[in-house]
Amino acid sequence: MADETTEVLIVGGSMVGLAQALFLARQGIRPLLVERHAEISAHPRAQAASPRTMELLRALGLEDAVRARENPHAQYGDILQAESLTGAELGRFDGPFRFDRHEVGTTGWTLIGQDRLEPVLRERAEELGADIRFATEMTEFTQDADGVTAVLRSADDGSERTVRARYLVAADGSRAPIRTSLGIGHHGPGVFGRQMNIVFHADLDPYVAGRTFFLCFVSNPVVKGVLGKLGGADSDRWVLAPSLPPGSDHRVFGTEDCVELVRAAVGVPDLPVTVESATSWEIAAWVADRFRSGRVLLAGDCAHVMPPTGGFGGNMGIQDAHNLAWKLARVLRGQAGPGLLDTYEQERAPVAEFTVDQGVIRYLQRSGLDEAAAARHRPETTVLFGHVYRSDAVVQEAGDDDTAVVEDPTSPTGRPGTRAPHLPLVREGKDVALHDLLDGGFWLLTGPGGMAWQEPAAALGLSFHRVGAEEPPEVVERFLARYGVQRTGAVLVRPDGFIAWRSGGAVGEPAGSLTAVLDTVLRLA
Ligand SMILES: Cc1cc2nc3c(=O)[nH]c(=O)nc-3n(C[C@H](O)[C@H](O)[C@H](O)COP(=O)(O)OP(=O)(O)OC[C@H]3O[C@@H](n4cnc5c(N)ncnc54)[C@H](O)[C@@H]3O)c2cc1C
Repeated sequence: MADETTEVLIVGGSMVGLAQALFLARQGIRPLLVERHAEISAHPRAQAASPRTMELLRALGLEDAVRARENPHAQYGDILQAESLTGAELGRFDGPFRFDRHEVGTTGWTLIGQDRLEPVLRERAEELGADIRFATEMTEFTQDADGVTAVLRSADDGSERTVRARYLVAADGSRAPIRTSLGIGHHGPGVFGRQMNIVFHADLDPYVAGRTFFLCFVSNPVVKGVLGKLGGADSDRWVLAPSLPPGSDHRVFGTEDCVELVRAAVGVPDLPVTVESATSWEIAAWVADRFRSGRVLLAGDCAHVMPPTGGFGGNMGIQDAHNLAWKLARVLRGQAGPGLLDTYEQERAPVAEFTVDQGVIRYLQRSGLDEAAAARHRPETTVLFGHVYRSDAVVQEAGDDDTAVVEDPTSPTGRPGTRAPHLPLVREGKDVALHDLLDGGFWLLTGPGGMAWQEPAAALGLSFHRVGAEEPPEVVERFLARYGVQRTGAVLVRPDGFIAWRSGGAVGEPAGSLTAVLDTVLRLA
């Protein structure tokens, strides 16, 4: 008999585990999250929340809270390439932009260190009822047909207790002890090298000399790496991320070595520098062979790892968690068949393969290692918003036999399996973006002549919006064009903002059609 029970045990309390706790709590599930460290890591690590991550956090009312913690010195725009901060400039290329420029969504990148984002996720998850325990390590687990039994050890006093969970979400990072113990391998290009993160304090303003850039890639005989300014109370806090060869270890670099690397990156041999911390991580690219084993589901870095170029890694993990949350919640509530959980891997594994490849391409290009990779390069909006899911939780249309994993979201097809295109709606006289409405349930959108869908939608518990009831004609035209339906047509949007099904026009029995579609999507049929 276990000491306690929970519906979902999340192992790992970093970016992805905390996001999983937040999204599950938002769905009304009270997960138990365990993290072996005593507190959120102070290392900056990933530096940017993507526009899609921001879209999800905005729907939870967290956009302002995240923006308020944005790195105060964040500079959007160019990425600079130079011999050193004071040396010759070798080039500039596009970096993250504050606001989306393609009308794909309502938000843009937010430059916020992982150390500053995670407290926001944790606080809201706890407010919504998640049970989050730091200084608690999961030391072993077993699973059977009905659930998982795990042993939790307190780092404070070494005491142990057992917990019985119906599902376990592994968010335990790239070393992936849970995945490994399940015998799930991984595939992909493998390890490219190591990257050190040296957090230091120095007055670099005279050497920045009024230039604006998000990051500065430096390359000279002493150091090859990335220099970036960090937020926080100290305006002189920076990070230098030098590349190390595979197999090397940052621990061979003492404080003086770190100071010399910083001086070489800045190009000032006697620069006063105070090193705050130094750590390193593996730059690698791989995808797990499976994302699920029985009652255990993998999310984030334990399922896929990619180079930091592009800023896709941690953001991908947040979207894994979002995809999984509504499915777990409905299965746990008996509103969906257990088969719905199979669609997690069906949807996220192909997207992970694609995104890892895009991270690798950007890494090879920026390192000057493989210019030929440019041929496979896809625009950032496509990588972030263009996913096309092919799964049992999507009603694929007859004739749609395109197997592409992505489409261009600036020219959306509105096909089932794609993210619902952005729409500026009006509800009760107030402007609201479609994705801001997605509060965890299914929505049925119809054209202006879609009145016949309203009653059956309400009877099935679907939220309903008739485009044109309050919107001006140009929004109606945009809806019809972007969603590929007629004025009497309807589109079913899943809780994660992806289109489950659409009907080009009116049908004889809308109630019967909607019931059949929901049974299919929720794997009840
Ligand atoms: C030093 C460092 C620097 C990085 N820099 C960048 C960067 O510049 N840009 C970028 O895009 N990405 C960077 N990354 C990667 C980025 O941090 C990850 O993509 C992101 O954190 C993914 O989050 P995750 O939650 O999946 O895994 P992780 O952040 O690795 O978190 C896993 C968590 O699980 C916990 N855990 C593991 N096993 C157990 C257990 N048995 N019981 C309890 N807790 C457990 C760990 O303590 C850890 O907190 C960096 C990573 C590191 C380590």
